[in-house]
Amino acid sequence: AAGASSTPATGAPAKKVLVVGAGPVGALVGLYFSYDGWDVEIYERRGDLRDAAERAAGIGKSINLALSERGITGLRNIGDGGALLDKVLEQTIPMPARMIHSGKVGEEGDAQPYDGVFGRYIRSADRAELSCQMLDALDERENVKLCFGERLVRMKLDTEDGPEAIFIKKGSGEEHKVKADLIVGADGAFSTVRYQMQRYVKQYYEQTYIPTLWCEFTIPPTASGDFAIPPNYLHIWPKQTYMFIAIPSMDKSFTCTLFMPELMFATLTTPSDVITFFRENFADVVELLGEESLVEQYFMNQHLPLVSIRTTPYHYKDRCVIVGDSAHAMVPFYGQGMNAGFESVRILHEHLAANPGDIRAALQQYSEFRVRDAWAIVELAMQNYDEMRSGVTKRGYRLRKWVQES
Ligand code: FAD
Repeated sequence: AAGASSTPATGAPAKKVLVVGAGPVGALVGLYFSYDGWDVEIYERRGDLRDAAERAAGIGKSINLALSERGITGLRNIGDGGALLDKVLEQTIPMPARMIHSGKVGEEGDAQPYDGVFGRYIRSADRAELSCQMLDALDERENVKLCFGERLVRMKLDTEDGPEAIFIKKGSGEEHKVKADLIVGADGAFSTVRYQMQRYVKQYYEQTYIPTLWCEFTIPPTASGDFAIPPNYLHIWPKQTYMFIAIPSMDKSFTCTLFMPELMFATLTTPSDVITFFRENFADVVELLGEESLVEQYFMNQHLPLVSIRTTPYHYKDRCVIVGDSAHAMVPFYGQGMNAGFESVRILHEHLAANPGDIRAALQQYSEFRVRDAWAIVELAMQNYDEMRSGVTKRGYRLRKWVQES
């Protein structure tokens, strides 16, 4: 637990940062500030993800994530000599290529390497496992206090003795106040920190819902306990206006996602609608899932929306700053939401390190520098939906065009 500690280099009392949200990005914020000698308090609305019941209730977030160099660099620079990164990477599956499927039974997929020149690759990571590893790393830090079941409801940013946040403890209904030197919002796309900050700063804010929903499925391991399809690929079934994807998991299952226009979801209302649709478009997937499981998963699992957010600035004076989805939620087609969140934390840390004792300048620079890049990634993520559901089927065409033009 955090007591009154001091900064190792100066002996001066450590500053206190209050992090809202213990998702992957909030956890990384906590680690960076902890290694920098700050007292860290992290407040999370939900329970501790390491409890089995809490984990089981974790609906609404995809099970697997593609972890790329952008995110890996964020994890590498915490200040622990790469110890956490090593543990995280041990639990990932390399995906050097995507495999494009027609959907026809017995037809082989087309493997397309992500990096034919240098052979670099993305990795499949289990979201909950990654978060738990990060929470364990936070628990090992003397200057970190983790508080679960605490929902931020309000903030006062201009109080004389530093910013303050008001939380409600789950079950009690009572409000209590927490003071800090700096508040970091890592509370996701529907961020209360961002919303509260807008009362103090003229913040440009743009939120877009695309007319596509997503639904998760799981392809189990085979009867002999092996992967049902080749594991080292991000599998894609592109269908122009919709697509199905599959990402390998450490337990030899695949986490799959159907991305499809909301209006099409609305037409599949009976088990036979679902089976007919899948047989027409993804017949090989039906073989892997089985009709019964396909129908059960389609109706049991939620059909969830996708939101994209662009906002600026990301900070208020030296008092409050936002990172991760809270600052730049994006559609998942570029596989970069969390990776970009990790990058934002690393960049925030770099600006704090470059401006010792001047948090206001650091936050200002972080905002100015990061907004441009984050907006670009948000846009690329949007464009990559076309690439995944349709562009991947035109590779030969695009290659020929490129050769003709060069
Ligand atoms: P979150 O994960 O949303 O965490 C925010 C935390 O704050 C939560 O724990 C929440 O409970 C807590 N919180 C919220 N409000 C409050 C409050 N008022 N008080 C206290 N706590 C609060 N990204 C990738 O990099 N690669 C991928 O392959 C990828 N695939 C994806 C696939 C899908 C289908 C989706 C939907 C997303 C995908 N993403 C991917 C994006 C990724 O999930 C997010 O970018 C990432 O989870 C953002 O992390 P975060 O910590 O900023 O926010």
